Amino acid sequence: MELDLHHLPVIDTHEHIENVYCWRAEDMGLAHLLLENHYLMALLAASDHKYAGREWNDPTDPIEPVAFMRDAGGAPLEQERELIRDFFLERLPLLSHTSDWKAMELAFGELYDVRCMLLTRREWDDLDRRIRTRYAERAEWHRDIFALGNMKTVFWCYGAPQIDGPFRSVVSLGDFLGRKRGDIHDCDGLYEAFDSWLDSVCDELDIIALKMGSVYRRDGAIIVRSRQEVDAALAEMAEGDTLMSSAAVDDFVHDLAASRAGERSLVIQVHTGYLAGNSFENELQKTYAARMEPFFARHSEARFDVFHGSFPQWGEAVTLARRYPNIYLNTCWVPSTSESMAEAMLRAALDAVPVNKIMWGGDAHSPEMAFGILRLFESVLKRVLEARGEPTRMCSQAADWILWRSAAELYSLDVT
Ligand SMILES: [Zn+2]
Repeated sequence: MELDLHHLPVIDTHEHIENVYCWRAEDMGLAHLLLENHYLMALLAASDHKYAGREWNDPTDPIEPVAFMRDAGGAPLEQERELIRDFFLERLPLLSHTSDWKAMELAFGELYDVRCMLLTRREWDDLDRRIRTRYAERAEWHRDIFALGNMKTVFWCYGAPQIDGPFRSVVSLGDFLGRKRGDIHDCDGLYEAFDSWLDSVCDELDIIALKMGSVYRRDGAIIVRSRQEVDAALAEMAEGDTLMSSAAVDDFVHDLAASRAGERSLVIQVHTGYLAGNSFENELQKTYAARMEPFFARHSEARFDVFHGSFPQWGEAVTLARRYPNIYLNTCWVPSTSESMAEAMLRAALDAVPVNKIMWGGDAHSPEMAFGILRLFESVLKRVLEARGEPTRMCSQAADWILWRSAAELYSLDVT
């Protein structure tokens, strides 16, 4: 049996494409694309002890190529470009086995016709030139990439998409929680402020989901708080304090958001597990999906799209999706973090979870990276399905669900 997945439509439930738009199109080259593969950059920093204790893109002390690019506003001098190139050429071979690089390599091969796991200086310059040529018409090129991947809908994190295309907006609950307390003095004020914020993002952006990325900064265990407790916390806060600076208010708003999302049939996307970056974030053990189980369970009216398979504790995410009808399993970011982990997770998910609850997303900072992760995921999915030895029709149906149908149902999307 030969499964052909490339012709299937795809719903890409999670991307951060806005990041590649931080550079001017006329400056965009290979180094920029690598810098916007933030996972690869964090891996690169992890290869050398001298970067310990700081984030790879630390604003005051970033790793070398980032400093060059930043200081030059993204358009380094010829000599600096060579230093950046040589830095990468020296370091990339250490990452050449990783799934992050494999996804990048798949993208470069198909999109720029450059196939090489280990770049030479000449190949670097050639690929860099090809990228610069394409970026002369950046938005058009990006739409072409999504069309080539047959991606019918791509979720845009966060806010309004910066270009026309098959995008739908997602907003982060962190936007609301990062607000100053201002004149919110009690729970009623909090309800009012939250409802008006949610009304405005629903009206103005027609959002498709609300994202909770809270485990980047806090324990996933969200505690039920009483009104009295929250009223007291708000009364104690200064006007300039952010809402998230109070643990009680932070917890309370998470529960409020889940209730409101349930009432509005708005899906909640939740980051679980391993965090992007190197150093300044939350401890791994506070990020796992099972930490949030009581929160998920007390909001049976809401639907939670659980991201990243609680990497590397994917068994938790698989088990939660098996147990709870309102919990979904999203494989976004897993294949490029570890292809073999993605394979194990998918195998277990197909064994244990209804297939209409399994879906995909790229979680990339550039369309190239999204495309590469899609191709990597498709190869994993194909291998996993073919190894099951089930009738072709059964495998094709599973591929349909995972690549687009599950997301189409969960997010009420039309795929035509
Ligand atoms: Zn993400």
